[in-house]
Amino acid sequence: MPAEPGTVLEVAASFGFVRETNYGRLFDVRVEPRPGNLAYTSRRILPHTDNPYRDPVAATIGELFAGPGARDYLGEPVTIGEHMLQAAALAEAAGAEPPLVAAALLHDIGHLRGEPSRGGQGPPPQAARPAGSSPRPNTDTGHGESGARWLGQWFGEAVTEPVRLHVAAKRYLCAVDAGYFGLLSAESVRTLSLQGGPMTAAEAAAFEALPHARDAVSVRRWDDQAKDPAITPPGFAHFAPLLEALARP
Ligand code: FE
Repeated sequence: MPAEPGTVLEVAASFGFVRETNYGRLFDVRVEPRPGNLAYTSRRILPHTDNPYRDPVAATIGELFAGPGARDYLGEPVTIGEHMLQAAALAEAAGAEPPLVAAALLHDIGHLRGEPSRGGQGPPPQAARPAGSSPRPNTDTGHGESGARWLGQWFGEAVTEPVRLHVAAKRYLCAVDAGYFGLLSAESVRTLSLQGGPMTAAEAAAFEALPHARDAVSVRRWDDQAKDPAITPPGFAHFAPLLEALARP
């Protein structure tokens, strides 16, 4: 490698994306008489990665959006990754506050993480599936719950509660909005029975009383619309700064 300034960056950029950190694009490791950083001491530095602890939210969640789980279809005409990005774009277009845009973006994060979301109930009964379809295990209420719990390590309830409640919001809307059921995709109708069917009047009243019920209903409406294969949503990078700004330090 030529010993000229800038060569290290050139080589690094030839095999990967060079991300700028608070140190800039390049950290010059050298020994200083009065070191202000471990890297400026004469101590040996073993191979390591800095970025995970500098940018944990965007890096961790971005990895899921870039991973194989995001390319699953779960019975819909768009992948789960596209679906979540579309939901966030709809929230943004509607002028939603940042936590609600984040909730729309992350509402199915439980699916992306591929957690067993059936709560140990076993596969859906054969009769609940249309003939010829394969069983899809991650399609019940558990993904809202597990997703919200995981997101709680970074975000407050304005983000996590709509995520947790977005499945209940579907059951709620089926109970209170006569036209709503007709808007559901075939897959969403299929999972409704697994999720408990429409709420009773008492359940709907209890749901309405929850602090984040309205936001959960908003997320649900974007969720139901965000299944259009003709739409190309913005990529995850578009929403990463919003997540960074919302995350607890
Ligand atoms: Fe969804």
